[in-house]
Amino acid sequence: MKNPFLPILCFSTMLNFTNASAGEVPDTTSLTPAVQKLSRAVTFETVSTVNKDDFRYEEFLKLHDYLEQAFPLLHDRLQKTVINEYSLLFTWQGNNPDLKPILLSAHLDVVPVEKASEDDWKEHPYKGIIKEGYVWGRGTMDDKYRVIAMMEAVEQQLEQGYAPDRTIYLAFGHDEEVGGYAGAGKINEYLEEQGVQLEAIFDEGLAVAEDVVPGLKDPVALIGTAAKGNINLKLTVQGVGGHSSAPPKETPIYVLSRALTRLHNKPFKPRMIPTTKETLNTLAGELGGKYKFAMRHYGLFKGKVLKMLAKDQATNALIRTIMSPTVMEAGEKYNVLPREASAIVNIRILNGEDRESVIAHVRKVVRDERVNVEVHGVYTPPSQITETNTAVYKALKASIHETYPGVMVVPALFPGSSDAKHYTNLTDNIFRFAPQVVNRENAKLVHNANERMSVEGFHQAITFYDSLIRNTCGLVETDALVQQEEEEGGLGVTGE
Ligand SMILES: [Zn+2]
Repeated sequence: MKNPFLPILCFSTMLNFTNASAGEVPDTTSLTPAVQKLSRAVTFETVSTVNKDDFRYEEFLKLHDYLEQAFPLLHDRLQKTVINEYSLLFTWQGNNPDLKPILLSAHLDVVPVEKASEDDWKEHPYKGIIKEGYVWGRGTMDDKYRVIAMMEAVEQQLEQGYAPDRTIYLAFGHDEEVGGYAGAGKINEYLEEQGVQLEAIFDEGLAVAEDVVPGLKDPVALIGTAAKGNINLKLTVQGVGGHSSAPPKETPIYVLSRALTRLHNKPFKPRMIPTTKETLNTLAGELGGKYKFAMRHYGLFKGKVLKMLAKDQATNALIRTIMSPTVMEAGEKYNVLPREASAIVNIRILNGEDRESVIAHVRKVVRDERVNVEVHGVYTPPSQITETNTAVYKALKASIHETYPGVMVVPALFPGSSDAKHYTNLTDNIFRFAPQVVNRENAKLVHNANERMSVEGFHQAITFYDSLIRNTCGLVETDALVQQEEEEGGLGVTGE
């Protein structure tokens, strides 16, 4: 069986997505104040660096000041809380205190411009150049456009006199690109101290994918309703050292290599999690024919479907916990046996497993007491799986349809990581979806040279957040949506 899902699922291996639909030159009327604001936001070099001391924190403070100037109504009417000096949390109090708030998450920081790529930029990465229908620069696709789009949507709603029933948080971390512990992590602590429980969180993640599934002409909006976990295991083997002319039978390098080979030969078992099954069900329904048949009778074709998905590295990552050795250390001199050999194995954990089960698997497969296995660094557990038969999912779906008419909406596993991982104690409803249209070309620009956002795509992002706020935070809207679904005969999420 050919794997028709492959192209679309390849997209989900990327961390972030971008929009840049083939651009015509815009007329100047498209240079709205909102676009100018995005352009200005790019000029602050809010770069995340692995070493905390290398952050240029004054750039974050300048960005804060600029936002205050650019969104006066928002600053006047929402409560602003500065968290850990450089992250921002805005609270828009809703009219009905019985409703749980929603949280819109985005980040103020950007990845650095690599020295090697400096010459490849056609426009300066920090000048916010607007040209040929695009805003150019670092952060235009990841993630300043979302910060500005959310704020602009709120600013316009305030101008129009809109008042939400539900409380809305805008949470902007300042170090997402290096883990988010100082930003979103601290925002989460603050909210937890306040006893906040949320209805839902909307963060970056997957996006609207265009032209990726053969046989499907409509674009597909992929919503990350689950995210894999992450852990690094350090495997260490000790030896006695000595001269290489008379080595013992098994040296540390040999023992370690055999351990890694065993892990390679015994991967985790393939497993279909509910999210991926939902993805395939939805797509198969649209593709029809044998795919639909296979997914209808999944019990019967389980082996075949899993085998098909396992064939490619992108889809293989969706059906199992994946282990990759990423760092090895041993030896310094050609003729000296190392006293120690070690390797880091990076493991992306499929939902349903955890730190303990992963370590147990590794120890069992390595089956050598000389190999010490320990956790190295931070462990991020796999996320909860977000339900899709809820009013809030339907509201999100409606907003996607309002913004991108004709798209299919498909829940999917997000194999990357974002600030959402810090908020998992506040709600089970986490949606990882960036309002952007991606294709094979523009997806490459994220974290890369010539990052740019189309003016049209940016305006769609504002439309999306305007709609999302209204659909999730006005009781009337949410009720109407549920009613509409019921009248339409309870359109299941897999039945589209
Ligand atoms: Zn991002």
